[in-house]
Amino acid sequence: LFGYVGIEAVLDQMRIKTMKTGFEFNIMVVGQSGLGKSTMVNTLFKSKVSRRATQPGREERIPKTVQLQSVTHVIEEKGVKMKLTVTDTPGFGDQINNENCWDPIIKYINEQYERYLREEILITRKRKIPDTRVHGCVYFVPPTGHWLRPLDLEFMRRLSKIVNVVPVIAKADTLTLEERAEFKQRIQRDLKAHAISVYPQEDFDEDPDDRSLNDRIREKIPFAVVGADQEHQVNGKRVLGRKTKWGIIEVENPVHCEFPMLRDLLIRSHLQDLKDITHNVHYESYRVRRLNEGTR
Ligand code: GDP
Ligand code: MG
Repeated sequence: LFGYVGIEAVLDQMRIKTMKTGFEFNIMVVGQSGLGKSTMVNTLFKSKVSRRATQPGREERIPKTVQLQSVTHVIEEKGVKMKLTVTDTPGFGDQINNENCWDPIIKYINEQYERYLREEILITRKRKIPDTRVHGCVYFVPPTGHWLRPLDLEFMRRLSKIVNVVPVIAKADTLTLEERAEFKQRIQRDLKAHAISVYPQEDFDEDPDDRSLNDRIREKIPFAVVGADQEHQVNGKRVLGRKTKWGIIEVENPVHCEFPMLRDLLIRSHLQDLKDITHNVHYESYRVRRLNEGTR
């Protein structure tokens, strides 16, 4: 009866467990106002992973985001339920003085760690602690085609110390293909020169396979994304895209932009890794810091 249990059976049990309990995954979008953050939140929810789950849309104009705001949808892939929450943030950079414009965002991220910590240190812990911690923070770089601005560098430097940062080039349809490629390389150099370690961080590659997969991703970062929340008819199919005088930019078409890479990284290939690094690295350093404070 208690003989050999194959790995398949173990994996099945794990799958059944997540199917029952589901799991929580939280993303945040950050960047200056007008860069398409709110649009991207809708793009994520409307794109293929979740199309079945979303309500067929009333198309609404996206209002200007004035406060931190979270949207949650339960999406299901192959029988596994996932509670995906995306937190939209108001754009910064509207003020003449942008000093400390990262404060509300950093405060929000830390508050979620604090909340988790308080549950964790209770004597009677919940079997499953509700997880509102931010697993991935998508940082929108304006498509200037030049360099990263001091504000972007400073923001990412601060964020990367407490959360997984995934930078993207916003509104990439406003750059030519050459401009995109050049800008991307310049950003990679800038980040390296300033020792800003964005996701996937080299330090956390676990083995050579991991390393070679992640190296290929690191070459592509920041993804040049385009967002859209309207569907159009293309060759008899409904596609999510932006209609221009020259044609439709299909956001889910990897030939048109790198939104599919962003989506696949976040909610498919690296989902578990983003959760693991959040728990084992970012939350852990928060926890250690907090508990040390307590004993002083
Ligand atoms: P947010 O302030 O960062 O939340 O930006 P919004 O999502 O509100 O978008 C601001 C404007 O940019 C809207 O008119 C959008 O339709 C437009 N927009 C959003 N994403 C893109 C994009 O990828 N390319 C282009 N060209 N425009 C975009
Ligand atoms: Mg917005």
